Amino acid sequence: MTKTKLLGKTPSELKEIALSLGLPSFTGGQLAQWIYVKRVGDFSLMTNLSKAAREKLSEKYEVGITPYTLCQKSKDGTKKYLFPVECPVGKDTFEKSSVEAVMIPEADRKTLCVSSQAGCKMGCHFCMTGRQGFHGNLDAADILSQFIAIDESESLTNTVFMGMGEPLDNYDNVKRVLEVLTSDWGWGWSPKRITLSSIGVIPSLRRFLDETKCHLAISLHNPFPEERASMMPVEKAYHIKDVLSLIKEYDFTGQRRVSFEYTVFAGFNDSMRHADALVHLLKGLECRVNLIRFHKIPDFPYGTAPDIVMERFRDRLTKGGLTATIRASRGEDIAAACGLLAGEHAEKK
Ligand code: SF4
Repeated sequence: MTKTKLLGKTPSELKEIALSLGLPSFTGGQLAQWIYVKRVGDFSLMTNLSKAAREKLSEKYEVGITPYTLCQKSKDGTKKYLFPVECPVGKDTFEKSSVEAVMIPEADRKTLCVSSQAGCKMGCHFCMTGRQGFHGNLDAADILSQFIAIDESESLTNTVFMGMGEPLDNYDNVKRVLEVLTSDWGWGWSPKRITLSSIGVIPSLRRFLDETKCHLAISLHNPFPEERASMMPVEKAYHIKDVLSLIKEYDFTGQRRVSFEYTVFAGFNDSMRHADALVHLLKGLECRVNLIRFHKIPDFPYGTAPDIVMERFRDRLTKGGLTATIRASRGEDIAAACGLLAGEHAEKK
């Protein structure tokens, strides 16, 4: 029998579970302490619970922390972790897959890039995860395990939902994780430490903007709708203009920030015509544009833009009044870009 995972449940849900097992309601609070404060994954180690309570819990439930199975370390300190997951594909049937989390150390911070889905259904042509197809949504425990099970768990300072999958296509589970990260009963992180990156799934984007105060990054990659649609099928369902109209309804002039990811593909989106159109599109929005160096992938028609082209593009955006930076590549020797390790792993299997 598949056991229900407790990791990701709120204290009031844990209380209800305790009551349903005939245990006192305060057991729910004790469970929340063990799981979220002490990060203990085994009922037998929860020493202030009675033996009977531990036995009852372990009949139907598990904490649900999954250890990683592989870790690669880059010479720049970046570490890529591989996690096994089992995604539901029907009632009581699961598909085995794997996802990655990447820990990026910098002088004063350690950022974890987490995955929210096994594979992805959005099919962006330049993305190795998109090429793997969709294997399923991660539940909150799968996502939280990436935070808890890595070696740097206690010293993480920031997180970006920028790994495998589109987080707004699995928003209910991602929302649970955000609640654990930011609640007093959880880890008490400021929302300023969290950035969610999306290609712009409008209905759940609105929910995210209403329900949280976390930062937002939008994968834009091309200011012209037809060209964007040729690389990112989502443009046909949710136009970037409509995504921007929605974003403009919210305040990004204070603590909360919005940024735009722009991967520069040589000969596709690196002209001054593109830079000027990007300036026009983002006019009036307090934001940052991150220019990302593309690393060639197999069977893809575009290559890496030379540094001089990236710099010219950045300077044109800056001249147009935008804040633009070229993002430094990290972990290149371990192929830290999302989807590569899990893809290799799947191929080997
Ligand atoms: Fe999915 Fe993001 Fe890759 Fe697009 S870029 S296919 S949304 S993981």
